[in-house]
Amino acid sequence: MSIKRLALFGGEPEFRHTLHVGTPNIGDTKRFLTRVENLLNRRQLTNRGPLVRELECRMAELLDVKHCLTMSNGTAALEIATRALNFKGNAIVPALTFVATAHALEWQRVRPIFADIAPSTHHLDPRGIDRLATSLTSGIIPVNLWGRTVDIGTVVAKAAGRGLAVVFDSSHAFGCTYKGKPVGGFGSAEIFSFHATKFVNTFEGGAVATNDDALAERIRLMQNFGFADRDQVIHVGINGKMNEVAAAMGLTSLEAMDGFIAHNHANYCAYLEGLTNVEGISLVEYDASERNNYQYIVIEVDDVATGLHRDQIMQVLHTEGVDARRYFYPGCHHMEPYRSRPKPAGQILTLTDETLARVLTLPTGTAVTAADIRRIVSLIQRILDGRIEVSHQLAKHNHSARFTSSQK
Ligand SMILES: *Cc1c(COP(=O)(O)O)cnc(C)c1O
Repeated sequence: MSIKRLALFGGEPEFRHTLHVGTPNIGDTKRFLTRVENLLNRRQLTNRGPLVRELECRMAELLDVKHCLTMSNGTAALEIATRALNFKGNAIVPALTFVATAHALEWQRVRPIFADIAPSTHHLDPRGIDRLATSLTSGIIPVNLWGRTVDIGTVVAKAAGRGLAVVFDSSHAFGCTYKGKPVGGFGSAEIFSFHATKFVNTFEGGAVATNDDALAERIRLMQNFGFADRDQVIHVGINGKMNEVAAAMGLTSLEAMDGFIAHNHANYCAYLEGLTNVEGISLVEYDASERNNYQYIVIEVDDVATGLHRDQIMQVLHTEGVDARRYFYPGCHHMEPYRSRPKPAGQILTLTDETLARVLTLPTGTAVTAADIRRIVSLIQRILDGRIEVSHQLAKHNHSARFTSSQK
């Protein structure tokens, strides 16, 4: 098909309705509405109602942990878990993550120290722990990015050697395994997010999973103003509770989870098959020997091989109705307040920066079909085949856009 048919040259966009990354998975609407109707009839809307208790039970079973404590969102889960573990001074985190990982610490005046990644995995390189940990360091928040796990064994061993607490940010890794064991039971605690864009969702929501009874007890107090009983406050706390409507969605989402995973897996296979022969584009692959949720489709663009930069490809995809995203560009270390701080030695994150210049996240989830994906792949192929014309057209387009905006 002619390159001139692309929307960039005035053609019709490939998709009339834009495909997004992270369009929510809904599950069985009827079952959800029945739950909501029942909870309205019960008039118990929050405060550890039956739906929250049921959700916590089911999740603890699925994660194979003693305690799963639901939360108002994933960020509150991180804040409460790290505070309950007495994180102070500073803590080591990767910069290639959603900014909440760093903000949850900073909000409590624990300074995030950013560690570089291993580019082959996009995960925190455990060797960074040796380089960055000081007497002020109290803990580590490794991130199980894209639902693949960091080298958990090495991270946990290094942390134990230094007496550091480990809280995994497993926001992406619900339902995944590490060496066959469910994510959720590693480190002192693991946190999950059930934000609407995550593959299992509660509109807004999160959870802390742990096998530590005393820690679970403390977290339970802290998420509910420190109430041990009516009129009895025995700890400082905030409000981190999940409400019953959120739990209704969580239960509905959990029931549909195997279906979501099957759908995501089929989408992943369609991308994998379609992109294998596209030179310069590589898909971040999942380890088939583990259980994965396949919720992110992440590609890396080698701009020397493709002749186009990641941003150019993204811009053309946007004009075609494919809302590809640069997750998590430019990295926490280039966001405020971290960006303006003097960088201690060892905090030059070359590999993180290089990776963040190459990655692009593509639409998947139950709102996207394998047929859509075949069209996205052929679109990418067409863009690369026409790289020279595309490049010229983009330059013209961006120049006139700049000209127009400077006239305003
Ligand atoms: C989504 C997400 C969070 C935050 O979760 P919320 O529920 O939106 O507060 C934290 N860390 C990572 C890696 C995430 O993707």
